[in-house]
Amino acid sequence: MSEAVLETRGLKRSFTQGDVTITVLNGVDLAVQPGEIVALLGPSGSGKSTLLQAVGLLEGGFEGSIRINGQQAEALDTDGRTDLRREALGFVYQFHHLLPDFTAIENVTLPQLIRDAEPEAANERAVSLLTALGLGHRLSHRPAKLSGGEQQRVAVARALANRPPLILADEPTGNLDEHTADVVLAEFLNLVRKEGSAALVATHNERLARRMDRVVRLHEGRLEVLGPKPA
Ligand code: ADP
Ligand code: MG
Repeated sequence: MSEAVLETRGLKRSFTQGDVTITVLNGVDLAVQPGEIVALLGPSGSGKSTLLQAVGLLEGGFEGSIRINGQQAEALDTDGRTDLRREALGFVYQFHHLLPDFTAIENVTLPQLIRDAEPEAANERAVSLLTALGLGHRLSHRPAKLSGGEQQRVAVARALANRPPLILADEPTGNLDEHTADVVLAEFLNLVRKEGSAALVATHNERLARRMDRVVRLHEGRLEVLGPKPA
């Protein structure tokens, strides 16, 4: 059996404001296997984004253990965590966060160049990902000239550009109308499967969660495991 691409043990996070402390994560144990697509369900405020920030190594203040792609995150210094984030993780957010002055293809090429890809290979990879997402005719458009669904597709291509073993997606279609969300999510899941990446996808939408391989739900700071979806 291969090692999990993500494993958290006893993950805890509290926030204190004045004399009030709320515990958002209260011992989260989660394992994601290579290539597995896991839906992280839970109502608004249940801690989905907090959990993704922890496993995305974007914030400190957590207790517990996070293992990503065979590396123990707590054992790393800031540079080590940055390296691990760049080599192992791809991110998709509710808002696309594309660079406004760069074209679609440049937004997907740039993260590859940062990791020392050959410009020609990076360009080819960007064209191939964007074309797979139906954006072959939008390569030279800047984000402002794209529709919301197209912007999110570019963000998906960017997240996959460096072939990360794990994609972290926080409400990736949350800003889109229902029909566009359905279409973009289906394309996203197809492409992640084809690329062989694993994904942890936060959503408060049960209908969308059912399209994934497995569903876990945040409830009172812990994960309820809902098992594989019924056939
Ligand atoms: P979700 O993504 O499931 O909607 P969040 O992880 O964003 O939930 O938030 C979970 C809870 O943690 C909320 O009650 C929120 O107010 C609180 N929270 C999140 N981030 C912070 C922060 N930086 N400071 C204080 N409270 C926070
Ligand atoms: Mg959230």
